[in-house]
Amino acid sequence: MKDNNNRIIKHIRFSITSHCNSNCIYCDKEGFTPKMSELTVEEITKLCKILAKVLNVSKIKLTGGEPLCRKEIISIVKNISNLGFYKDISMTTNGLLLGKKAKELFDAGLNRINVSLATLNPQRYKRICNNDSLETVLKALEISKDIGFNPIKINYVILKNINDDEFWSMSDFCNKKGYILQLIELHQVAKSVGGGNNLFYQNYHYNTIPLIKQLEKKSNKTIIRSNMQNRKKFILSNGAIIETIVPSHEFCMGCTKLRIGCDGNLFGCLFRSDLGKNLKESLKAHYSLEKYDQIIRQIVDSREPYY
Ligand code: SAM
Repeated sequence: MKDNNNRIIKHIRFSITSHCNSNCIYCDKEGFTPKMSELTVEEITKLCKILAKVLNVSKIKLTGGEPLCRKEIISIVKNISNLGFYKDISMTTNGLLLGKKAKELFDAGLNRINVSLATLNPQRYKRICNNDSLETVLKALEISKDIGFNPIKINYVILKNINDDEFWSMSDFCNKKGYILQLIELHQVAKSVGGGNNLFYQNYHYNTIPLIKQLEKKSNKTIIRSNMQNRKKFILSNGAIIETIVPSHEFCMGCTKLRIGCDGNLFGCLFRSDLGKNLKESLKAHYSLEKYDQIIRQIVDSREPYY
């Protein structure tokens, strides 16, 4: 299904819980705070099936909150995998519970993981994430690699005067370990989360353009991921692979995602969860596929480039 700007929906980003065992200072809460109770495992599975049938999507990312805080996480992954529609099932996680669950997740059908890691320095980790778990996360990454997750991506949100001096050491660390580094520029938090108070953004936003220029000079090859928000992927001469996620109009124009909040709110943009529609009641009502098609079409039509 295409939106009014000719963008075909290809990805689903599904927040399966708002609960989190970390408290990162930059967190965008995936664009909204839930108004209703969490979808059940059955409702999540049913919605994934409807979305796959209506949109013909085969890629899904599970997020949160922290997806591993959801106690039924293994059943959720298994059910989505068993639907047979999704060829790429991935998850973004803070890694705190990953070491314990990685094998079961892999066996259940999870293909890929992104792990949030804003620093390699324990004191800074504590300042950014409000917990002491850096070692736990590093160990979880090793375990996940040994189990066979590939690729493993590291989500590094760069923050002015907090961790902006760590970019090259993060790049070396990821290269040595065989992980892909995702350099993420801080974006503002949606009004539906922070009430429009973007003081944190004003204080800590780091402009990545000069860094990206350096990457352009140093890289042997640059790929533009046109199916994925026009993200740039740099392959450096030392073998390091770095992807950049920078909010911009170009980025927005390459966005092919639909989002679902943990309470069933289906929406088209991180910054406009208010334009979404909550599907929890519809899921109980056993609508026809044609009816779901109409509802989803309305949400897809509400998508605009917001940058
Ligand atoms: N708890 C999980 C985690 O830590 O990955 C999933 C939820 S978290 C909201 C998902 C990702 O959103 C994080 O890896 C981080 O990269 C990104 N993120 C959160 N807030 C952000 C912000 N203000 N700017 C840029 N990226 C942000």
